[in-house]
Amino acid sequence: MPKPGTITAVKGFRDVLPEESRRWRELEAVAAEVFGAYGFGEIRLPVVERTELFARSLGEATDVVEKEMYTFVDRDEASLTLRPEATAGVVRAYLENGLVTSDPTVRLFYRGPMFRRERPQRGRYRQFYQIGAEIFGRDDALVDAELLVMLTRYLDAVGARATLELNSVGDARCRPAYRDRLRAFARAHLDALCADCHRRAERNPLRLFDCKVETCRAVLLRAPRIADNLCDACRTHFDEVRALLDRQGVAYVLRPELVRGLDYYVRTAFELVAEGLGAQNAVGGGGRYDGLVAALGGPEVAGVGFALGVERLAMATGTTARSDARVRVAVLPLDARAVPPALALATRLRDEHWAVALEASGRSLKALLRSADRRGARLAIIIGEDELRTGRATIRDLAQRRDVKDALPLDAAAAELSRRLDALDEAAPARSTDA
Ligand SMILES: [Zn+2]
Ligand SMILES: [Zn+2]
Repeated sequence: MPKPGTITAVKGFRDVLPEESRRWRELEAVAAEVFGAYGFGEIRLPVVERTELFARSLGEATDVVEKEMYTFVDRDEASLTLRPEATAGVVRAYLENGLVTSDPTVRLFYRGPMFRRERPQRGRYRQFYQIGAEIFGRDDALVDAELLVMLTRYLDAVGARATLELNSVGDARCRPAYRDRLRAFARAHLDALCADCHRRAERNPLRLFDCKVETCRAVLLRAPRIADNLCDACRTHFDEVRALLDRQGVAYVLRPELVRGLDYYVRTAFELVAEGLGAQNAVGGGGRYDGLVAALGGPEVAGVGFALGVERLAMATGTTARSDARVRVAVLPLDARAVPPALALATRLRDEHWAVALEASGRSLKALLRSADRRGARLAIIIGEDELRTGRATIRDLAQRRDVKDALPLDAAAAELSRRLDALDEAAPARSTDA
């Protein structure tokens, strides 16, 4: 417990320490590699946007815009918001940077923090990280299938076991009639629905499916489903996406009640649900948003994309026990005079990309060796009075607990050092602390 008066992080915000960071870096590196093979380039966006961008893209009546955004008035009285998601920002950038004319079918991926003032719970933070991707200018079923193939390939590559849940949410042609049917259903079941759902039924019945109240969810299981109310064009599009996924051997589960909460989603909608995450089990989701570019002042340009939650992805894939800095060698100066040659030796090894622990002098050899052991080093290079006199450092094999026969010349060139230690390191058995 921190002492009273200690400054702590804000509720819902937290630190990501090296062990976890290392896993995130892997998740991000694999994303860049896999997405790159599908023609995606990375876009880095500001975390602050004009509030209007989210009000227009997410819809004024959404929970995100009404309750969850970090909105503040800047000194010049502009209303600004910490981005609650990135798609709106990607679309703004697509328009603002002229990609809409210079590269209309551009594929962009992003990663970074998002901010929502939700109730903190396991695996959910008010600053959370996403990896996402967007494809513009294509409305054919092929591009939806391609995106989903990429997504499942990525999840496989990072070791996430997730189920792809798929639906079509219709479009401007078929959804209004469906919305009316859903509203009629809700009006017939008002007694069993919560106050929020009463409001949703009137303002935007599709949002009924966002409700987290159990009794509402039970009622909505019997509600009419969009999948049964698609127009011919939407039906054909969905059938094509499914046929391509089937041919490609991508497994998915149809979820006819899956309705993305946001207004601009049309046709293909999906979620990725992982095992072992409890009730909040979605690691990500996405879909087609053909109306969004126009809603933000651009021309009619189609779009499709997804976002994955990095925290949940890390939870779903498990963390590796390996420490971030995998120390292989510890350099142990026994006294103050040994410090300069110890720093020189450590620097030369680090130049050769060895992870080196350099201990403080002035402790007993026993204490230094214990410290080297704790860091998981396989080899210790000891520099004391004898070593300074002979110009050769003692190498201790920490796994075998004995000194290596050939002492190491203190002035050995970096490459020579590296070669010598490499041979020894390879010969040493794997240490339990490194497993
Ligand atoms: Zn409800
Ligand atoms: Zn339709």
